[in-house]
Amino acid sequence: MKSLHCVCCGRPFARTSPRGPAPLYCSRDCRRQMDVRRRAWSDEDLFARPALAEPAGSSLPF
Ligand SMILES: [Zn+2]
Repeated sequence: MKSLHCVCCGRPFARTSPRGPAPLYCSRDCRRQMDVRRRAWSDEDLFARPALAEPAGSSLPF
């Protein structure tokens, strides 16, 4: 049987069902973890964009 590696924690795991697409996570917990992380990443993107558009130092009034 082909063993899979969880994309969240990297642990090898065996898929429970031979049918359907190969699962990416070893457990529902890991899937939730990645959901949370992905949301955090997009939040960081929103915060990083204005900082990149306006480089520090160039817009100081003096
Ligand atoms: Zn995992």
